[in-house]
Amino acid sequence: MSETIFSKIIRKEIPAEIVYENEAVLAFKDIRPQAPVHILIIPKIDELETIKDFQKDKHTSILSSLFEAANQIAKDLSISNEGYRLVINCGANGGQEVYHLHMHLLGGRKMNWPPG
Ligand code: AMP
Repeated sequence: MSETIFSKIIRKEIPAEIVYENEAVLAFKDIRPQAPVHILIIPKIDELETIKDFQKDKHTSILSSLFEAANQIAKDLSISNEGYRLVINCGANGGQEVYHLHMHLLGGRKMNWPPG
């Protein structure tokens, strides 16, 4: 897959407000927050452009790491008890802008349904 701005954030070549990091994932504040808490959680490997590239035999541990990070960050940011939303946009109709798999963690307010 081709490089995105997220690859540069992973390499710390451009700044981001990092809230969580381990060997598999990086999480940072979204630059255009849609809620009081809006974090992007991304795998460090440049292998998955979208969730539709997911293959069970190759990527199960990556998805586990994303969900594990989301739950930990929600606790760290004190939104775990009241609840939050996890979103993965896929492709043009899904509203995806950056083609490096990422999960949005949104919280700190009541979310609307259906989403726009
Ligand atoms: P998506 O529309 O699901 O592809 O989400 C991409 C997200 O990346 C958007 O919510 C953008 O606001 C966010 N974004 C783009 N560039 C940056 C950046 N340099 N730092 C933090 N968030 C960014």
